[in-house]
Amino acid sequence: MAYQYECSDCAFMVRSDDDDELIEHVQQHADGAHGMQVAPDDVRAGWESVEMGAQD
Ligand SMILES: [Zn+2]
Repeated sequence: MAYQYECSDCAFMVRSDDDDELIEHVQQHADGAHGMQVAPDDVRAGWESVEMGAQD
């Protein structure tokens, strides 16, 4: 199981099976691209669960 987060302000999209890594990516994007501070809870509220491709 992985999580996917799509930025609401641009076409940015990130996917990871690591909660903390995904949150960090989203925070870096929001800050770097939009000058926004995003709380971890905001990321959790906005991401969706996705199936990872078969790449074991
Ligand atoms: Zn964005």
